[in-house]
Amino acid sequence: MAKLTIKDIDLRGKRVLARVDYNVPMTKQDDTMVINDDTRIRATLPTLQAMTEKGARVVLAAHLGRPKGKRVSSMSLRPVADSLSKLTGKPVSFCDQCVGRTAVDAANNLEDGSLLLLENVRYHAEEEANDPTFATQLAGDAEVFVNDAFGAAHRAHASTVGVANVLNSRGGQSVAGILMERELQFLGDELESPARPFVVILGGAKVSDKIKVIDRLLEKADTIVIGGAMAYTFKLAKGLTVGKSLVERDKVDIAQAALDKAAKRGVQFLIPTDNVVAVPTEVDGKFMFRDHRVNDSENIPDEVEGVDIGPKSAATFSEAIAGAGTILWNGPMGIFEDDRFADGTFAVARTVCEATANGAKSIIGGGDSVKALNKVNLGDQVTFMSTGGGASLEFLEGKDLPGVAALTEKPN
Ligand code: AMP
Repeated sequence: MAKLTIKDIDLRGKRVLARVDYNVPMTKQDDTMVINDDTRIRATLPTLQAMTEKGARVVLAAHLGRPKGKRVSSMSLRPVADSLSKLTGKPVSFCDQCVGRTAVDAANNLEDGSLLLLENVRYHAEEEANDPTFATQLAGDAEVFVNDAFGAAHRAHASTVGVANVLNSRGGQSVAGILMERELQFLGDELESPARPFVVILGGAKVSDKIKVIDRLLEKADTIVIGGAMAYTFKLAKGLTVGKSLVERDKVDIAQAALDKAAKRGVQFLIPTDNVVAVPTEVDGKFMFRDHRVNDSENIPDEVEGVDIGPKSAATFSEAIAGAGTILWNGPMGIFEDDRFADGTFAVARTVCEATANGAKSIIGGGDSVKALNKVNLGDQVTFMSTGGGASLEFLEGKDLPGVAALTEKPN
């Protein structure tokens, strides 16, 4: 069922509680916390603008990190309020509580079209417990709940599900923000009947994290391309050797089942035919890789670890990607954080962008693929980059996200 969005309702002069995803990376510099990457804050700007230009009085709720129910000063959202003021060009007030008298007063003092950011909801254990009393306090006097936090929608917490239930029970509306709507459109609707060929590229550390996604997409994709460490479990399933590579030996059966399903359905299933390998060693108690080289074979020798796809595999993968009508990419092809092992991931990133320029729809499923694209300044050359990590994967698995399920349904 389709959910109501902020485009469907009249927000004029309304009191709004909006859940946003401001779980941004920060580091400490001279005793203050500095935001390293404001992508998630920027991603909410269209929703903030849509609400404030209609004159809504908006209270923003978000979490940062995992303070586990305690006040941890390094996880305060105050720096985000400063960043928001700069990005929106208007003052954004900050309340160092998210519930209680001060928070209520701050919300009551809001003028039409203004924004207030509440302190980290995870400073209270009741948030993750989805405590109904806490949810009622957080909802305050809001007449509308806007959920724009796709990245937190896979969690049934007080600020995602609890407040939606409170609003729904008192006849208010709970609606999707613009970012949430776009995430559901690209990771959901667009992949239901994709332009063909539909090429799915998956990489990253573990088969176990993504096997449910592979299984579901085997029913829709024309080609599945596997890179990263997860490819080595597929190599084992094919009877190939993997040396010291990161593998999940207890997942060989499920890898084999995926290969069988691909063969049965006529889905092209590509894994690397060559790899960059390196010798894992320890120097002064520190782990490192030395002597990296291309291993031009499907088999990886005993003494080395696979750390990236090789140039032949990059060419084969690129050929499949270049002809795509729709591309879904999640996960790097190697240990791309180390420049020596990043070529495969960047080759895929470039080909995805070229295919997009030639008319393909490219959807990047969040996490490290987004980081890789941004690292080579290609983030704006794909059709859509998801802001969700775990939430994107669960959604791609076909699961109902509790934060989405709790929103008000569109009337027929
Ligand atoms: P994920 O969160 O599952 O997408 O995994 C991302 C991580 O997988 C990144 O930190 C990569 O460094 C890691 N990774 C990718 N390829 C390999 C590999 N061949 N060996 C070990 N780790 C890898």
